[in-house]
This record gives sequence, structure tokens and C-alpha cells, in this order.
Amino acid sequence: MKSEKAETKPIAEAPKKAAARKPREIAIRGIPVSSGIAIGPVFDTTEVPAEAPRRSIGAGEVEAEKQRLAEAVTLSRKQIGKLKSRLSVLPEEAQEELEPLLDAYAMMLGNSRLLRGARKRIEAELLAAETAVQDEAEAIATIILAQKDDDRAGLNRRAGEVREIARRLTRNLTATPFRSLKEVPEGAILVAEELTPADAALLDPARIAGVATEEGGADGHTAIMLRALGIPSVLGASGLTESAVRGEPAVLDGSAGLVVLRPGERALEKAKESLAAFARERAKLAKLRRLPAVTTDGEPVELQANLEIPAELPLIAQAGAQGIGLLRTEFLFMNREDLPDEEAQLAAYTQIVEAMAGDPVTIRVLDWGGEKDMEAQASGIAPTHAGPNPALGLRGLRLLLKRPELLEAQFAAILRVAERGPVRILLPLVTNPAEVRQAREIYERVARRLRRKGVGVPEKLPELGAMIETPGAALAADAIALEADFFAIGTNDLAMYTLAVDRAESEVSHLYDPLHPAVLRLMQFATEAALRLRMPVSVCGEMGGNPRLVPLLLGLGIRCLSMNASAIPRVKQAIRALDISDCARFARRVMEQSDPERIQELVMSQGHVTERN
Ligand code: PEP
Ligand code: MG
Repeated sequence: MKSEKAETKPIAEAPKKAAARKPREIAIRGIPVSSGIAIGPVFDTTEVPAEAPRRSIGAGEVEAEKQRLAEAVTLSRKQIGKLKSRLSVLPEEAQEELEPLLDAYAMMLGNSRLLRGARKRIEAELLAAETAVQDEAEAIATIILAQKDDDRAGLNRRAGEVREIARRLTRNLTATPFRSLKEVPEGAILVAEELTPADAALLDPARIAGVATEEGGADGHTAIMLRALGIPSVLGASGLTESAVRGEPAVLDGSAGLVVLRPGERALEKAKESLAAFARERAKLAKLRRLPAVTTDGEPVELQANLEIPAELPLIAQAGAQGIGLLRTEFLFMNREDLPDEEAQLAAYTQIVEAMAGDPVTIRVLDWGGEKDMEAQASGIAPTHAGPNPALGLRGLRLLLKRPELLEAQFAAILRVAERGPVRILLPLVTNPAEVRQAREIYERVARRLRRKGVGVPEKLPELGAMIETPGAALAADAIALEADFFAIGTNDLAMYTLAVDRAESEVSHLYDPLHPAVLRLMQFATEAALRLRMPVSVCGEMGGNPRLVPLLLGLGIRCLSMNASAIPRVKQAIRALDISDCARFARRVMEQSDPERIQELVMSQGHVTERN
């Protein structure tokens, strides 16, 4: 058995090296997710102390409690291992600083005094695992701090490390992300390992200067939410949480995907200049609000907004959107324990439809599942067992067809709001025509029931459209077009399912490529199926809000784009500089290519066209 001395030595020695150095600037690259510059102090949510309530257990629970602790240790080891595996992408000085720290953490998750002591406390004092861990960590920290040593900073650091690992264990034991987003001070840059879409929905863009996380991909729902809120953000920034220190200054460039911790004078100056340039650009784009989205040869393009939460409504008005092309209704189901009933839904839709004052609102029925599974369990929507592959499991329309009462309540609320303004209904994650048919039967049944009850339902029911966001739906688009009234191409999921790359997973984000020829060919097939029947078709995935992709999308025949409101001015600017026959020619050239890299080059070379003015 190792002696206590041998065990604690590396903890004491290694980080000393780091502490002896002056804190210095570290630049960390991540995925650019929401443009804008943020300058402010770091607020690291993973640093919030994990204070699980003290809990005792019965004598019969000791073994189970020790098992829980063992599982939390395994998970914590995995997390530390993952952090270590990412070290190589960091700048050398950051690696030097972090490696010993991670080694120290890994050591404490081995046969350490902390774990032995915690296990003993579970047995002897009948404490719950998290209480035992906290008590043991405090006892060790007290002993360390009582030592006589001139290196006070070193002792504090060692005690801090023990507490930190106890916090990680407690967090894993209680499966609680110990963060209170309400506490984020005004003007701070929020730093976290991961942010769920539901967390992001709670952020106040007026208070938070920027967001940076370790995990996450460019087109995950968290990214979409952050863009919607207009918060400059960088996700997938490896090594961030281990280098960031709460309260220390940082700058974040959401367009470049860069976070600079402890910026020096030059970096700070540069950030200030970029901030001013960004504000100037915004003011310039705002002037486009009243101008039509028409190509130079007179082809009108409809520009609509995607809406994640009602707080975005003022932004939509400012952006000059011609209606809402995708209302993601998931916000109604997030951050709550119960399900919103028909009345609650009606109230929410009424607010939105009335705010749009006669412009059309496309309401997508609940698209639950995938990334949102954790929260789904909390609100009792999904079965508790999410399955081995949640993205391929019971989600989107297939979940609603298994739980028709959810769909009925939503259809009823939408039909009732149809009196207040033009609405359309969109079905998520369609894979075959029968699903649309089944949904329509339920829809018509709900309409008949409402009419019987004397509720004013429009004679011609609002249109029922299908999202084209799976390869299956794209390739069966001709059959689905016979069942649906319109198509909305969801390029985020379409790219994910076509390429088998999770859109929210930072580890594979380099493979997530909506411009991959496979994705483009599916889009083309679905678009042509719709156009043949003169059926409306839009693009409402993140591709629709990228000004560089406008020539290609127009060239493919798309005339309606729905995007996060803040993207509308730039996309409009691009449209106003384009000629439709040039776009058609360009799209033909792109579609002849089979090499993804060549397509990237071609599209990027169009940048000068869409970025002039
Ligand atoms: C999509 O998948 O492209 C889409 C628009 O839907 P969501 O991003 O909400 O999954
Ligand atoms: Mg989708």
C-alpha cells in the first residue's frame, strides 16, 4: 500500500510550478457560435460550491452508498481523462499549467486518503456518499492548512484541490450541475463545461456579456439559443474551465471562436477596437430594415425568423422579418416539472401571434428528444429509458404519435389561436408519409371536436407542413409532398443524420458539414419534389441564416429562408447584391462537385459577392 506521503506528494509538488508563474494571457480556440465581442470578468459556473444537503443513511444502505460513490469516482475519472486527452490542442504554456493539476486530480480519484476516508465515514457514521465526501475533504483541507510551511499559497492551493475534487464528486453523485445562472454578475463572461438548451434559455442577454463552454457544437440547440439571444458565444473550447479563474478578465470573440483569458494590453486594445467595429456594422445593417429582400433582377425572397423564446419578439420586429418561419415550441416544455396544458399553450401562442400583427407564424409542434432527453424526463414527456441512441429513438413526431394526447392539446391550442392571425403547423422529424397522414387524421379530429363545442375554427384549416430533416424524408420527399401542405428543410438535423455526426458534440464537430455533397443532394431532391407540385418550401436550419450560402440556396430554387432574427440584415444585404441567374449557374457548378473540400472552396470564394456593399 502506498504511504500517505507518497500519495500526497505529487499533489503538493506539481502545481507549485504553475503557481510560481505569473498569471498570463492564454488564448483558447473553440467553435464560433454567436458573433460579437465580449470583454468582462470570468464567471465560472463550475466553481460554484457544491453544497448537497447533509444526509444520513440506514445501516442497510451502506453497500448501495459505497456503490454510488464508486460510480461517481468512475465518472469523475472519465471526465478528468477526457480533459487530459484534450490538453494537446492547448497552447504549450496552458498544457504545462494544467497537466500537473489534472494528474493531481486523477491521483485523488485513485486509492487516496479522500476516498478511503469517505468510505469509512459511510460505514462508521452512516453518512450519504456526498456528505461523507464533503466531510472528509474538509477534514483533509483543515489538516493541510494547519501545517507550518512558509509557502502559504502552496498550502491554500493543495487544500483547494482537495475541495475541488470533492465538488466534482458531489456534483456527479447528485447529478446536479451546480450552477445558479441568476448569480452571474452583470457584464460577466459565463464559463461552463456545458450549457444545456434549457440553461441557455434562462440567460438574460442584457446582463451576460458572453458565453464560453468546453462542450457543444455549432448547430446544437444551445448554440441556436445563444445566437437567438444575441449573446457572443464560443462553444467547444477545450481546456477552458481548467484555465479560467473566476473574476479574472477575459475577452471573447464570437465570430473568430476565440477566448483570451487574462488578456494583455494588446489583446484588450484589439478587443475594444473590434467591439466598436461591430457596433458600427450593426448600425449600418439596421438601415436595411425597411428595404425589400429582392435580387438585382427583381426576384423577391421571403425572410422569416426562427423563434426560440418569446423574449426574442422585439428582436424579430427590429430585424424586419416577414413572419415566423419556425416557432420552436420546446421553450414551453423546458424548465418545468409538469406539462403545459391547452390553455397555457393558447396564452403563449396568442402573445406571439398578436405580436406578429398579421404576419404568418409557423408553429412547429413539440420536437422533444435527442439533446433534450434529460429535461424530458423531468417533465414526464418521454419514457424514463431514453434508449441506447436517443437521436434515433422516440423523438419528434414519432413521440407525439405515441402520445397523441400531447399532439391533440397542441393542435387544439393552435387551432384556437388561428382566429387571431395567420398560422401554419409544422411537424418535426418526419421520416415517412404515413406519419404525416396519421398526424393529419388527429388534426382533423381535433378540429371537428372543437367545432362541435362551438369553438370558432377556420373553415380552411391552417396548413400542415413537414420538416425535411432526415435523409429518409428527403429521399421520400415526393411521397411526403402528397401528404403535406408545405416543406421546411431543417438542415441542422439533415446534416447530422446524413453524416452520422452529432450536431452538438464538440469531439466530432470537424466532421459536421452541411455543405457535404450528400446533404446538398438531399436538399436538392426535396426542393425539386416541392417545386414540381408548386408547394412552398423553405430552409429553416442554420444554413438559411448564413449569408455566404445565399447564392447556393437561391440557385437551388429556395425563395423562403427562416433564420435567427439577428441574421436577417446580413442575409438581406447578400440577396440585394445577387442576380438570380448567376445563382442558378453557381448552384449547378456546386452540385456537379463530389468533393466536400472543393464545395467549401467554391462557396467561400462567393464570399466577396455576398459581403460587398
Ligand atoms: C433543423 O434540424 O435544421 C431544425 C430547424 O430544427 P432544430 O434545429 O430545432 O432541430
Ligand atoms: Mg431539427
